Amino acid sequence: MPKIWFVGAGPGDPELLTLKAQRLIKQADAILFAGSLVSKTAMTWASECCDIQDSKGMTLKQICDWLINKAKTNATVIRLQTGDPSLYGALIEMIQPLDKAGIDVAVVPGVTSAMASAAAAVETLSLPEVTQTVIFSRVEGRTPMPEGESLEDLARHHCTLCLYLSITLLKKIQTALIAAGWAEEATILVVHKASWPGEEQIIRGTLSNIREKCKQAGINSQAMIIASPTLGARNWTELAKSKLYDASFAHRFRKAEKS
Ligand code: SAH
Repeated sequence: MPKIWFVGAGPGDPELLTLKAQRLIKQADAILFAGSLVSKTAMTWASECCDIQDSKGMTLKQICDWLINKAKTNATVIRLQTGDPSLYGALIEMIQPLDKAGIDVAVVPGVTSAMASAAAAVETLSLPEVTQTVIFSRVEGRTPMPEGESLEDLARHHCTLCLYLSITLLKKIQTALIAAGWAEEATILVVHKASWPGEEQIIRGTLSNIREKCKQAGINSQAMIIASPTLGARNWTELAKSKLYDASFAHRFRKAEKS
């Protein structure tokens, strides 16, 4: 029975693909990869007879037709996507036509760029007594935001915001966060091409100067924007420690120490 695998290729560094993704690429008969964001190195693991195609210039219909066509004659067909397939990856739009065609599908998760960006900058997205919530979102561009999900609404939570697809919309981010009560000096992190060997750029700024800093660095695509009250915590002197590692805190695997 042929199967089409939607595989997360991770944020860019080929070492951040999962072992499962690597195994599937090695055994694939056909791979359709998102050429603008997926490292070509992953394709070198494919067998010599594997049919490899870049989807950069293709429409959604062309993508689905290609996958369906390959699944007619091949056992293992891969749609290789950047980061994790469940985030901003048109996953369901691709899967519905395959369901209609009666083709079996499966999804392999990947490291999403928000995680790779936090790692690049040695930041945590959650911190005890600071924020325990992370929102993955984007700023309204050509895709309208559903009711209640404007950036200003989301920013009112003052939790961690990881903003995809929004690097050209920094002005809107400034306006929304300030309207939601964030300080102009609030730290903002931008990571361009997180994890890409030799290409990663980390820009730290404030709400008021991050746009100018990104402009100076020439960053206008493939960038993650993180706004969070946790940013810079590595250098804080006062830190509310996680209960999990607190010597006086007992849990399933450890008894509390007597103080
Ligand atoms: N499914 C992907 C997101 C696809 S949308 C994921 O899980 O990461 C594309 C957006 O993802 C880009 O506009 C950018 O905001 C972000 N992105 C993808 N790769 C990135 C990387 N290596 N570094 C920073 N941001 C990246």
